[in-house]
Amino acid sequence: MPLANCKGCGKLMISRKMPYCPDCKTKQDLLYRQIRDYLKENPGSTLLDVHTNTGIPISTVIELRKEDYIPYS
Ligand SMILES: [Zn+2]
Repeated sequence: MPLANCKGCGKLMISRKMPYCPDCKTKQDLLYRQIRDYLKENPGSTLLDVHTNTGIPISTVIELRKEDYIPYS
């Protein structure tokens, strides 16, 4: 079975399609939901707006955005 390091915590895990281990995936999902809800209420927000108002680190917001989670305007 192929092994890979989790993109979030670096833990060695069995490589599936996901770049994150289950722990990190859960965290990412929570953050994603938080950002999505924020954008639903505040359409057209910038990366910085999301960071400032949700307290989620910019790097995480960028990361989630890169993975096409978030439809920024
Ligand atoms: Zn992880």
